Amino acid sequence: MLDILLHAGFSAFFVGGAVRDTLLGKPIHDIDIATSARPEQVLELFPRSIPTGLQHGTVTVVHKHNSYEVTTFRTESSYSDYRHPGQIAFVDELEQDLQRRDFTINAMAIDRHWKLYDPYGGQSDLHNRILATVGSSSQRFQEDALRMLRALRFAAAYRLRIDEQCQQAIWQHGELLQHIAMERVAYELGRLLQADELHPNLHMLKESRLLHFTKEKLLLANGSLRQLPSIASRAESTCWALLFLHFGLSSGQAAHDMRRLRLSKRLQGDAGTLLKLCEWLQQAVEETDAAAQTNNRPGLADELKQQWLQLLLQYPLELLELWLEQFQPFSTQVKLLQQLHESLPVKSVKQLAVQGKQLLDWSNKPAGPWLKALLEQLFIAVASGKLGNNKQEIERFVKAQNEDDAINE
Ligand code: ATP
Ligand code: MG
Repeated sequence: MLDILLHAGFSAFFVGGAVRDTLLGKPIHDIDIATSARPEQVLELFPRSIPTGLQHGTVTVVHKHNSYEVTTFRTESSYSDYRHPGQIAFVDELEQDLQRRDFTINAMAIDRHWKLYDPYGGQSDLHNRILATVGSSSQRFQEDALRMLRALRFAAAYRLRIDEQCQQAIWQHGELLQHIAMERVAYELGRLLQADELHPNLHMLKESRLLHFTKEKLLLANGSLRQLPSIASRAESTCWALLFLHFGLSSGQAAHDMRRLRLSKRLQGDAGTLLKLCEWLQQAVEETDAAAQTNNRPGLADELKQQWLQLLLQYPLELLELWLEQFQPFSTQVKLLQQLHESLPVKSVKQLAVQGKQLLDWSNKPAGPWLKALLEQLFIAVASGKLGNNKQEIERFVKAQNEDDAINE
């Protein structure tokens, strides 16, 4: 890939995340290339290329089934809105390009012969586990305030200590975050949440006070951080749900913040459901505990089971199963529910041996709300073991009911 640019007489290097991850021996996900070729020239050299960000000099190139972000060497200046450079200029030298990059660990390049260019000591910072900006942190954050959140994200992802100067600058310029679009805040926050260790990273986020300064106010800012059990691998929706749980927000408050962060509808829905389930469990456990204390009734587990079956009718099965799996470490109750769930003969209406069409044939009635109600009734009966999940038994049950209805009418 680099060769094509080199043969055409341009210089070209791997830069950014790919270099960092190569040095760490981590898998690479996307590859950035910096080159002296101008965007038009890149477009001309590679037939399968898309001008993704021409004004910044970026072209996406598909080459031998890989996709590359190819960006022309550039400098940036006269930042005016605390985020975007007012002016960019294409230049011919790699050194000038590396200078505009945010952190030392992100300002390294590797050439065609695997020679490393590292003018700001990124490799030694990686080795010593330090995150430092290229040049004055204070100045770099005033140019682009998003870099403060990026600092937390990279420190979290690579377990780096943010150096003193950088930390001071975050304290000093935190309020500039008000100039950053909420979507960008959400993206960096999302990346921070996906890093291995959640609690120390949230602690760092809280300490930085950055959450106080977002463009639109977040309830998270006033949350107090709680230490909760940790979960190793986490789905994206779980990450968000955990953020709000750790900060002690209710599902309603979380919904408010997720809207402000412009999370996708799907994430808002999924994370919101996971949180509601946590609240449901809390309440159900408290109620059954209280009932157990007052009248020492057996069969409480059965009550919980009946409630769980109602949830199975109400929420998508995948989400309930995700919650069971991911929130198990949180409480023995979730573990018990998981066991109960696994033992169910059917887990959703779809798994019934009989579907709506068949019920319509048996009933001679036009379709209507009764159909859904009947399916749900059948589900509860089959799932709680009162009815076998086979056509004959279900047919007998339904017909007996039809006769009852006829008598009652
Ligand atoms: P990853 O791909 O894992 O998110 P990355 O380092 O490749 O990490 P990108 O956001 O893809 O991060 O950016 C690519 C490179 O562009 C960075 O490594 C950095 O050199 C530079 N860069 C990105 N955003 C900024 C910024 N706001 N200020 C300065 N340099 C930046
Ligand atoms: Mg990248």
